[in-house]
Amino acid sequence: MSFQAPKGVSEYVPPRSATLEAAREAFAGSARLACYGYLETAVFEDTALFVRGVGESSDVVRKEMYSFEDRGGRELTLRPEFTAGVVRSVLEHNLHKGALPVKVWTAGPAFRYERPQSGRYRQFYQFDLEAIGTEDPAVDAETIAVAWDAYAALGITRLTLLLNSLGDKVCRPVYREALQKFLRALDLDAETRERIELNPLRVLDDKRPQVRAQLANAPVMTDYLCEACAAHHEVVRGLLTGLGIPFTDAPRLVRGLDYYNRTTYEFDHALLGAQSGVGGGGRYDGLSEDIGGPPLPGIGFAVGLDRIVLAIESERGAAAAHPGTGCQVFGVPLGERTHRDVLTLVTALRRAGVRADMAFGTRALKGAMRAADHSGARYAALIGEAERSHGTVRMKDLENGEQRDVPASEATAWLIERLSS
Ligand code: AMP
Repeated sequence: MSFQAPKGVSEYVPPRSATLEAAREAFAGSARLACYGYLETAVFEDTALFVRGVGESSDVVRKEMYSFEDRGGRELTLRPEFTAGVVRSVLEHNLHKGALPVKVWTAGPAFRYERPQSGRYRQFYQFDLEAIGTEDPAVDAETIAVAWDAYAALGITRLTLLLNSLGDKVCRPVYREALQKFLRALDLDAETRERIELNPLRVLDDKRPQVRAQLANAPVMTDYLCEACAAHHEVVRGLLTGLGIPFTDAPRLVRGLDYYNRTTYEFDHALLGAQSGVGGGGRYDGLSEDIGGPPLPGIGFAVGLDRIVLAIESERGAAAAHPGTGCQVFGVPLGERTHRDVLTLVTALRRAGVRADMAFGTRALKGAMRAADHSGARYAALIGEAERSHGTVRMKDLENGEQRDVPASEATAWLIERLSS
């Protein structure tokens, strides 16, 4: 019997996994430069946290959660998103009692029961960043800039930043009612009608042409913003312009999770078709209170690392996209007794910080040299019986084919010098 991963699980194996690592590292690097700390947090949480935090009317909570009862009778759910768990963790560890805002990032798998397709999985990978404890619009712009710089570091260019404001508890209810009134008059199916009552903003997100056509004159939130929200939004827009970050006003942009208010944004990639969202975020000023904490305004984003890999592949071509292992030296033992010498050499190189691999098993010269070429290394270091008895190592430059014999005692230093020149 052979097994396969469960349906919809996204997996990465070399060399493609290196691109996933690079994507995570680019965002982590950008977050570290902005002084965000690393948080490692629960992969599963009390189900009630997501019901209260993400919102009962969201699709995620209604249809997509992996919920289970554990052996102790606890109702648990694999995290469908990060923010509720991050805020829970910040409160539990009292980070909000120190300096504000609390700035943290985390990364790992998230789980949603979705219809799997390219760019949409049941187990997928996110990088998540949150700034908790300030209403300052500068932090809204900061989170966007951190993401923007990470995409740029990855060489992703076909990116559009969509920006909107969803108002707050003063102005959103007024808008919600106006929108419901507009939507109720349209010709829509039963499920969409139900959505009008539960979560009308989500109807704006409907991708079907017959629905879209009817939404052309729908009221937009930006026309309903109260003075405070409108001012906040203007400051964010001005800050982004000042930072040289282009954005598109997207008055229809809503997000799948209920807790968002004020600043809301999404990063879209031009080449990814239906699953074009490579990241998104926004403010969630009421979330802390929703899950039993003190008032603690926050903002953050999550990016889909799977989709970033797809974006990199679509811009660069799959073959060029993956950096590989970055092996620098490849040891080639010729003859059984030489394995020990080669292992000693590659271990010394590794201890000196050089990425080194070697041929294993008994391979003839041709097969071993093919492995050396395949490794992507710059140098092959050969030790056969002759080299062994002369106390030398034969170095082959795999770029130009030049060879030379170097005393074994100087081999490590010789390679390090060549590699750094
Ligand atoms: P969300 O948590 O829904 O705001 O999503 C944030 C980002 O995660 C999106 O922009 C996507 O890039 C990614 N994402 C969300 N759901 C999935 C999924 N099912 N499969 C792959 N990526 C996803």
